[in-house]
Amino acid sequence: MTAAATRQDLDRVTAIIEEKGYRPHPIPGAQRVAIGVTGNTEPINPVLFENLPGVLEVISVSHPYKLVGREAKPEDTIVRVGGVGIGGGSFVVIAGPCAVESPERTLAVARAVKEAGAHILRGGAFKPRTSPYSFQGMGKAGLEILAAARRETGLPVVSEAMDEASLELVVEYCDMIQIGARSMQNFPLLRRCGRTSKPVLLKRGMAATVEELLMAAEYILAEGNYNVVLCERGIRTFSDHCRNTLDLAAVLTVQRLSHLPIIIDPSHATGRRHKVIPMARAGAAVGADGVMIEVHQNPGNALSDGVQAVMPAELAQLMAQLPAILPLTGRRLAEMLAIGA
Ligand code: PEP
Ligand code: MN
Repeated sequence: MTAAATRQDLDRVTAIIEEKGYRPHPIPGAQRVAIGVTGNTEPINPVLFENLPGVLEVISVSHPYKLVGREAKPEDTIVRVGGVGIGGGSFVVIAGPCAVESPERTLAVARAVKEAGAHILRGGAFKPRTSPYSFQGMGKAGLEILAAARRETGLPVVSEAMDEASLELVVEYCDMIQIGARSMQNFPLLRRCGRTSKPVLLKRGMAATVEELLMAAEYILAEGNYNVVLCERGIRTFSDHCRNTLDLAAVLTVQRLSHLPIIIDPSHATGRRHKVIPMARAGAAVGADGVMIEVHQNPGNALSDGVQAVMPAELAQLMAQLPAILPLTGRRLAEMLAIGA
């Protein structure tokens, strides 16, 4: 739509889209509103809209994804989580334990990551473990502990949902829903995320292409939830010196194709403590919108992923180094606004 398009102009266009049985997606931008259309199985005749008042241009989207692409929205999306915005030139740090293990441990690590300057607390309560005999997470009790940690520290919290039941709980207790690598193509779960009002952290599947990651995000946007943050967490390659291979160039590909923010997870990507902070720095240097790092105060005792957990002091060191790296890509450390501001 043109910058001067009126409410009436927008309503006229959305009404025509609905009349055709399609779904309109008004996408506000800095200068003007774009209206995405989904639900059509055939190309739409541009003549339907071209000469309507307020219509600037009818763009036929050439990619299989529509709403996540820059054709639909040229400017970066900023996803608000609690008091922090992800995307649009800032760099956000999400930190916390792999899993919520107990109230004491979680509160202690929450205080430590807050003290280090992290913006968002992570912690899994529903854990997708390779072995059914491994610790599976504390479930709802874990989310209650996370919520208590948020109350005490003021940090927004993110936790993984694996199915419908855990999604409902995560929506109730957390500020952001994490969809793990193993669930990236759980399409019914993605659709359900799309019907919630909480932002979603969508992790790349370990054998997914960038296009498949974007199509997974499209499922969420297509249902009306535009607040999606992507996460590169390493992919499986022949290389066996790390748990996975951090595909840093995927950040650049995503940023070219999509307006959605993308962060990196150097913890699951490397699986080795001594590689986590250096790869986090690499992510900052390449221009990622943030990092997610697993932190534990006593990694030797961690119930999951202890080998890749960094100590709070290492996180603090990274926070001190970031201001030297971020200006290289015109970024700055995200600022926390008061919740509700
Ligand atoms: C996690 O972040 O806790 C996790 C399980 O990661 P991934 O889904 O990337 O393996
Ligand atoms: Mn983990």
